[in-house]
Amino acid sequence: MKSRSRPLLLASIHDVSPRFEGEVDRLIGLLEPHVGGKFAMLVVPNHWGGAPITRGSPFASRLRGWAESGIEMFVHGFFHRDDSRHEAPAKYLRARFMTAGEGEFLGLSQAVATARIAEGRELIEYVTGRPVAGFIAPAWLYGPGAIEALRDAAMPVAEDHLRVWSPATGRQLARGPVITWASRSPARLASSLAAAALLRRAPLDVLRMGVHPPDVRHPALMRSIDKTLRIAAASRTPGRYTDLLRT
Ligand SMILES: [Zn+2]
Repeated sequence: MKSRSRPLLLASIHDVSPRFEGEVDRLIGLLEPHVGGKFAMLVVPNHWGGAPITRGSPFASRLRGWAESGIEMFVHGFFHRDDSRHEAPAKYLRARFMTAGEGEFLGLSQAVATARIAEGRELIEYVTGRPVAGFIAPAWLYGPGAIEALRDAAMPVAEDHLRVWSPATGRQLARGPVITWASRSPARLASSLAAAALLRRAPLDVLRMGVHPPDVRHPALMRSIDKTLRIAAASRTPGRYTDLLRT
């Protein structure tokens, strides 16, 4: 990895779905003053099996408009719900309790992962009229089947909590924890505020931050996100994940 003259800021909106259209609009309003259109959307093709993105729908038109304005589009799982059976109890507990059952790609076989990745990619590429930037698993959790499937699909970019890599080439593209906010319990909310306050000043070459639809319901989180964007954007260039492939 070549060092940059100015470090990068990569911002993203998770769980983009017709189910969360109002929340996504609010998150766009929060990001744009700081990063313009330099952010990514993580799109869920059919959130929990009840919010399909349909070709030709108004939401599909909005996705195309966002993509045409330069927002990067990632496939973000397919259903965003962990409906597989985990054989190993430890893995099951991790999926069930650490992610509220949203680690969809943790327990999938390679065949099922391949099928869902291909279907999601085809849908989003059809709707937006351009190639997807990559694939990011729900809750950043990948099982061995998902890792193999992404490599076979030659997906340009993927990320987990700690790194960004290219499944297509095997190359590591960036390192360092992603800043994200949690609101499922008061304790998680408080610890995510503390983590954001530390990480937004971390001397990383690439700083990632991901925001989620439920964040908009918590004023303290919205303030922390805004402050994180302000501090990070003061010393960093807002960028795109695909910028990492050119260095
Ligand atoms: Zn998600």
